Amino acid sequence: MSFTAEKIVTRFAPSPTGVLHIGSLRTALYPWLYARQHNGKFVLRIEDTDRERSTPAFEENILEGLKWFGIDYDEFYRQSERGEIYKKHIDALLADGTAYVSKEEPKEIGERSEVIRFKNPNRVVTFYDEARGDISFDTTELGDFVIAKDINTPLYHLAVVVDDFEMGITHIIRGDDGISNTPRQILLQEALGAPRPSYTHMPMILAPDKTKLSKRHGALGVTEYRDEGYLPEALINFVALMGWNPGTEQELLSREDMLRLFTLEKIQKGAAVWNIDKLKWFNKQYMKKLPFVEAKEKIFAYLPESLKSFASNNTRVFEKIVPIILDHVSAFGEVKIMAENGEIEYFFEDPEYNAEGLFWKNDKNAERTRNHLVKVVKLLQGISADDFTVEAVKNTLWKYASLAGKGNVLWPLRFALSGRDKSPDPFILAEILGREVTLRRIEKAMERIDKIVRRK
Ligand code: GLU
Repeated sequence: MSFTAEKIVTRFAPSPTGVLHIGSLRTALYPWLYARQHNGKFVLRIEDTDRERSTPAFEENILEGLKWFGIDYDEFYRQSERGEIYKKHIDALLADGTAYVSKEEPKEIGERSEVIRFKNPNRVVTFYDEARGDISFDTTELGDFVIAKDINTPLYHLAVVVDDFEMGITHIIRGDDGISNTPRQILLQEALGAPRPSYTHMPMILAPDKTKLSKRHGALGVTEYRDEGYLPEALINFVALMGWNPGTEQELLSREDMLRLFTLEKIQKGAAVWNIDKLKWFNKQYMKKLPFVEAKEKIFAYLPESLKSFASNNTRVFEKIVPIILDHVSAFGEVKIMAENGEIEYFFEDPEYNAEGLFWKNDKNAERTRNHLVKVVKLLQGISADDFTVEAVKNTLWKYASLAGKGNVLWPLRFALSGRDKSPDPFILAEILGREVTLRRIEKAMERIDKIVRRK
């Protein structure tokens, strides 16, 4: 990169024709990082010249997303409000003969018969891309391209070049679909007498099957990720590494790390590949870092109403299951799924289940199973409610379970406490439930076994 003493100005120039998605988040992030790490300026420019496809709702979604990520900007523009500025430049180009009004043969009745074309000097344009090196294009094939439908209606390329010039953009950092636009834009810059900014094009993000990334591959808009309980730090970290790396193996990067380590030269040429499992991995790492109270609140927010009231009425149990839930999910939205699958309710309410479930697969004998539970109750009664901890319960039962067979003793105990084939181990369950509920659930299990035995 050539050294310049000027202030660095970068921009994010989204078209409000869709929501802020993973790709556009990255398109915002890289220039933001670059501006902030150089004490420069970051401009947000809404490119809403396509009046038919642009909507205020999409613009709002983009702004909301950026705010959620803490991507702040110093200046804000909408192209739709800058007609006078484009007009001034089109006038100048017409006046000096680098653009001209061209009479067109209307293809349909009522179609405009004049457009404004750029007089192409037809030459080879070479520009340096910070990530890819020199790129050359022969512009001859572009012909005298149209830059405006009329003096009041600039087309895309002209608007971009005028804006980058007027806004003093020093570094254009954008998606690689911008590469083929660059020669045309450079010709226009030269005609306007604008300085050439530095260019960096970031690689595409492909789906795992190497096709274009879309919703079908689980790539959602960023506000949807927010609603699914993903953390902004995780999403930012994940997208930062799609097309860039710090040159080390370090994957967990805080905002400060990124601001320190980001460089344009380390932006990759090859396409990045989307990987939802990797995103989940990042999210889990950041979930684990959350302060307990925050994690608790986020889990609570995703509980169905019935469980919310259990959790508020029994905060002791709720606080004890927070780490268990955190262990199970990779986004807070998955708490809903855990709840639907009945993986949370049994901590608060004695479970309903079929007595057969109490029998361990290698010993389905009812009497023997019942005897183990009788013994377990006797042993547990020796621990006071205050001392009913994982360690105490384990120490108390371990000798007996080792002699009688761990599966034979601990399976029925665990099932009596949870009513489920899968759950945390019985020592953990016992501490969470507490002495009274633990003993009650074992008694209930014994009653269930009694019913089976009587039936026989
Ligand atoms: N508005 C363009 C887009 O959303 C980006 C233009 C640019 O970065 O030069 O694709």
